[in-house]
Amino acid sequence: MAASGYIGRFAPSPTGPLHAGSLVAALASWLDAKAHNGQWLVRIEDVDTPRCVPGADQTILNQLAACGLYPDAPPVYQSQRGHLYQDALDQLIAQSQAYPCGCSRLDIEQAIAASGPSGHKRERHGELIYPGTCRNGLNGKKARSWRFLSTFHLSNRPSDQQIRAQAAPDLIASDIFRWTDRKLGEQQQNVAEQVGDFVLKRADGLWAYQLAVVVDDAAQGITHIVRGQDLADNTARQILLQRALGLPQPKYLHTPLVLGVNGEKLSKQNGAEALNLQDPLTALTQAGLHLGIACQADRPTHWLQQAVDQWAARFKITA
Ligand SMILES: [Zn+2]
Repeated sequence: MAASGYIGRFAPSPTGPLHAGSLVAALASWLDAKAHNGQWLVRIEDVDTPRCVPGADQTILNQLAACGLYPDAPPVYQSQRGHLYQDALDQLIAQSQAYPCGCSRLDIEQAIAASGPSGHKRERHGELIYPGTCRNGLNGKKARSWRFLSTFHLSNRPSDQQIRAQAAPDLIASDIFRWTDRKLGEQQQNVAEQVGDFVLKRADGLWAYQLAVVVDDAAQGITHIVRGQDLADNTARQILLQRALGLPQPKYLHTPLVLGVNGEKLSKQNGAEALNLQDPLTALTQAGLHLGIACQADRPTHWLQQAVDQWAARFKITA
């Protein structure tokens, strides 16, 4: 079978074993890769080291293997890739698209309060929208974190990027950023307004998720990202970072989430049970139903073969 240029990935955080929700994400990304005759990679997202559980990476890889989901290359670990993230941050600093921030949470709360009633809530997913206090300098404060300059206008760019910017009118014409999701369709977000200047390197010295993901996706040659819908909201920030770093933009597909009985996203944090490794066929069957896939099979390999065909019929990009 001719190799396609497709490279996809599953990128779990090793904070515990896979549960029903994370298997859906793993399966969707695997099916999409195989439906396109592509490669499927696994990346262990262990940048947030305090949250990681020793041994969880191996448990996850064992669970994937039990379900017949084998990566096409050895997994990479974000904890070993800090030099790549530093290179990217250095590039953004050199381009004046990243700046040091000396604000504590209290500083940010006070700056928001001092700006008066702004008419809209300055908070999003429990995180304060940074008001840009340190954009023009630290004013004697000590640098704590590094932030991305989300107002992405021509005046902020060095001249060699102005040429590239002309090919990206969706970014320049207004502050509203648009992209297309293969399942959700047209999406848009005003990153500067709705998210603000987001953190690239945290005050505790750890790399922020957004930067690590963008750097790794490019370094691994990822062409297609298939992941849970809870992560769709990160897409605009990640595409902005890709553009700023001159990296290619993958195609995106966000799959529905598995909800727990309380109606919230099933997650390790709200006590989702680990998958039962003794019965991978049942685990695959349940994950498949969630993705609209139903197969009659007596073992995981047969189930997966049928599922790839069903997935290809629905999601294969033919253009
Ligand atoms: Zn600041």
